[in-house]
Amino acid sequence: MPDWQDLIRDIPDFPKPGVVFKDITPLLADADGYAAAVDAMAAPWRGVALDAVLGIESRGFILGAALARALGTGFVPVRKPGKLPGRTLAQAYELEYGSDRLEIHADAVAPGARVLLVDDVLATGGTLCAALALARQQGATVVGASVLLEIATLQGRAQWDASVALEVGITC
Ligand code: IMP
Repeated sequence: MPDWQDLIRDIPDFPKPGVVFKDITPLLADADGYAAAVDAMAAPWRGVALDAVLGIESRGFILGAALARALGTGFVPVRKPGKLPGRTLAQAYELEYGSDRLEIHADAVAPGARVLLVDDVLATGGTLCAALALARQQGATVVGASVLLEIATLQGRAQWDASVALEVGITC
């Protein structure tokens, strides 16, 4: 396991009792750890033709923007509802209680653009799968997805379209 994984800490009972939250802020605050984590996430995609990284709000921005720089692509934000100023496309997804929505600027990437989805954590998979559907709705070609951390017990991978490459930094 990479050293940087030790910089991710468990916060019990956040955001609600019984949940153990994986907090990546100590990793982001550590210059070497942050660089090593971004390098590890970028490694599988070096040499792969990509037009843009689509980062999912909010920690997907922090990792996705760094990955875009590392891979020499543009960066496109996938945001929570009502945040983007231009015309948007939207994709709803189910939460444990209720539902949420992700949005992207309708003109953010050209049809057929080759994109990489980036987020910090894959838990139940709802968020990443919604981002995949959103990118496809826009006509992008999703080359793959990259997350820093997969929480295997929540089985997000079972929801994922297995025909699309999914790379994870660490699995816990
Ligand atoms: P999912 O939709 O259940 O896969 O949850 C993934 C989304 O929720 C990601 O955008 C994460 O930022 C966030 N998330 C879920 N669990 C955690 C956690 O333990 N730490 C940090 N973020 C989390």
